[in-house]
Amino acid sequence: MLLDTYGRTATDLRVSLTDRCNLRCTYCMPEEGLQWLAKPELLTDDEIVRLVRVATAQLGVTQVRFTGGEPLLRPGLAGIVARCAELEQRPRMSLTTNGIGLERTAAALREAGLDRVNVSLDTLDPDTFQRMTRRKRHADVLRGLAAARAAGLTPVKVNAVLMPGLNDGEAPDLLAWALEEGYELRFIEQMPLDPQHGWQREGMITAGDILAALRTRFTLTPEGEDARGSAPAERWLVDGGPQRVGVIASVTRPFCRACDRTRLTADGQVRTCLFATEESDLRGALRGGASDAEVAELWRKAMWGKKAGAGIDDPSFVQPQRPMSAIGG
Ligand code: SAM
Ligand code: SF4
Repeated sequence: MLLDTYGRTATDLRVSLTDRCNLRCTYCMPEEGLQWLAKPELLTDDEIVRLVRVATAQLGVTQVRFTGGEPLLRPGLAGIVARCAELEQRPRMSLTTNGIGLERTAAALREAGLDRVNVSLDTLDPDTFQRMTRRKRHADVLRGLAAARAAGLTPVKVNAVLMPGLNDGEAPDLLAWALEEGYELRFIEQMPLDPQHGWQREGMITAGDILAALRTRFTLTPEGEDARGSAPAERWLVDGGPQRVGVIASVTRPFCRACDRTRLTADGQVRTCLFATEESDLRGALRGGASDAEVAELWRKAMWGKKAGAGIDDPSFVQPQRPMSAIGG
């Protein structure tokens, strides 16, 4: 088990497959100038599958989410998924993606054993999309979403971040669209993980703001505390259900006490939290000839040191050095 001193057990592993991306979302990446990891620094496909095997066979991990950067840019993605699907302790597998290229790959990923996708889309307006991501790819995302639904990568969840002055008026429209399309929408509060270190608590759109905006058009009924469990999203039934909307209030209502996550960066570092300031090097151990049992022990030790919370709202909060795209969201 991956236990920590606060009694939490990590069963949900996020694996970043690359630090690169074909979008440049302002809250995640700089326009230019980010240093990419060099190829030899990245975990190889074999190393990733081995670490997933260690995590599932020896450490109690049951759920694996592939992320990045943009995981669809990783050439070996379908192969990695297929090999993880063949593991004796097969994890449930999902992908967090910006959806670009999913149109071509959704069916093959489903075939390889992927269970679900989360697709990030912040706006229904192509111009706003371009302002937020610095790229003209809105239509590709919509096509990717439809392909995921058609391939059975369901429930298809859509992640949206609201930014002041950009898309903060769109919450009800996004929900109406998601209900119509059969996607499960989740709003994520913007977190201080932007490369400009420009995040400001005062200006951010909070879960409270989002819910108030949604209630101008929909009736929201809480699913109840139990429904949240270790899941970060608090969920509401929309107009009596069965469709739902989620809000991930990482800043204003952090879920650290129930956190069940452990993370691997694309260069093989264990992070206990998005906001951890320390990392533990599993790639070095793998390449130095460590056995599975030794790797598992290093991972356990890293998780034992997990802090109680991210403390974003604490005055002593320090933003991590790496931006979101490099940590793996
Ligand atoms: N490229 C993929 C994507 O966009 O879905 C996967 C990686 S991305 C870092 C994962 C998620 O993190 C996305 O839903 C994105 O919107 C979210 N994200 C990135 N930076 C964020 C920030 N500063 N605050 C909150 N969410 C953020
Ligand atoms: Fe790329 Fe995802 Fe970051 Fe946007 S949020 S820049 S799509 S990694």
